[in-house]
Amino acid sequence: MAQIKLDQLAHSYDANPQTDADFALKQIDYEWDDGGAYALLGPSGCGKTTLLNIISGLLTPSRGSIQFDGNDVTHRTPEERNIAQVFQFPVIYDTMTVAQNLEFPLANRGVDSREIRKRVDEMLVTLDLTDKANSRAQRLTADEKQKISLGRGLVRYDVNAILFDEPLTVIDPHMKWQLRTKLKELHDRFGHTMIYVTHDQTEALTFADKVVVMYEGEVVQIGTPEELFERPDHTFVGYFIGSPGMNILPCKVDGAQAIVAGHRVALGGRYHVDDRARIELGIRPEFIRFAKTHEHGLPVWIESVDDVGRHRIAKVRLGDYQLNIIVPEGQELSATDHRIVIDADRCGIYVNDHRATGVTA
Ligand code: ATP
Repeated sequence: MAQIKLDQLAHSYDANPQTDADFALKQIDYEWDDGGAYALLGPSGCGKTTLLNIISGLLTPSRGSIQFDGNDVTHRTPEERNIAQVFQFPVIYDTMTVAQNLEFPLANRGVDSREIRKRVDEMLVTLDLTDKANSRAQRLTADEKQKISLGRGLVRYDVNAILFDEPLTVIDPHMKWQLRTKLKELHDRFGHTMIYVTHDQTEALTFADKVVVMYEGEVVQIGTPEELFERPDHTFVGYFIGSPGMNILPCKVDGAQAIVAGHRVALGGRYHVDDRARIELGIRPEFIRFAKTHEHGLPVWIESVDDVGRHRIAKVRLGDYQLNIIVPEGQELSATDHRIVIDADRCGIYVNDHRATGVTA
C-alpha cells in the first residue's frame, strides 16, 4: 500500500491547450493517505476517469507529477506501479473456471501455491461464489462475472492501491448494496488504499471515508460525507449532495443579513463581498421550517407537497424563487400561504459559486 501524491497535476487531451476550458482535468494538488478509502464523485464528463487513469498509469498527465511513497511514478506503467484495477465491465477469462480466474493474478506474480489456495478460497466465500468455483466463467451471469472482476483485484494483498471505475454499474440493485458493504469490510480488514469512481452519491457516501467531488474538470471539495453535507464549499457540492440538494438563491448581502427576493434573512456571521460578483445564499431543505403562528418569517406560497416515506418535501415559492423544505413526519400543513424560518447558522454565502467566510460576532 502506498501514499499517493499528486503534484500540480493537470491534463488536456488537446496537444496545444490554450485556455482552462481545454483541460479535462484542471490543476490538482493532493495527498491520498496510505490505506484511505476514497470516492471520486461527479457527473458524467467531469474528469473522474481521466484522474483515475493518471493514478493507475494508463494515461500520462500533460502537466505535473505523481508520486507513490515519495517515488516519482509519472512515467511508469500500471504494472510497474503495482496497481489493481476493476473496470465498469467484467475483465475475466471466459474459458477459465471461476477459481482459475481468481488464481491467475497471484500465480502470475509467483505467489506460493498454498497461499494462492487460501486466498482464493477466502475470496470465493467473500463473493458468495464457492459453489461456482469450478464452473467456466462464460456460463455465469453479468453480476457474477463482475464479482469475479472485483475478486481478481481484491485477492492481491500486496498492491499499492486498488482502483475501481464505476464497478457496480452492471450489478442489480440488491447485489450492489451487498457488494458495497463487502468492499467496505475488505477495506477495513486489509487496509488497502482504495479509490472508487462513481456518479452515484449513495455509493460514494457509503463507501468512502473521504469523497473527492469533481465538477467540470475541477476538484471542488474533498471531505468526509458529513463535511460535504454540513459545509459545502461550492454550490455544486450543495446541489449534488443531498436529496433534495441545497437551495441556492440569488441574493445581495448587507453585513449579517442577506436580501433574498426583497426579504431580509439573518445570517450566522457578517460578510464583506464584492457587489459585482454573483452572490447566492445556500440553505439545505433540512434547515428551513414553517413558522409557528406567533413567529415572524418569510412569506411563501406552497406549490406542492410530496410524501417520500420518512418525511415530506414541500416545494414553496419565495418571490421568484422556488425552495424545497423538508417537513418532519406528523407536522400539519393547513393553508396555502405560510411563513418560513431559515436557520441563520446553517446559511452559506457563495460568491461566484465558492463559499465565502463570514465573521461571527
Ligand atoms: P463518465 O462518468 O461519463 O465516465 P468522467 O467523469 O469519467 O465521465 P472523463 O471520461 O474523465 O469523465 O472525461 C472528461 C472529459 O474529457 C470529457 O469532456 C471527455 O469528453 C473528455 N475525454 C475523455 N477521454 C478523452 C479522449 N481519449 N480524448 C479526448 N477527450 C476525452
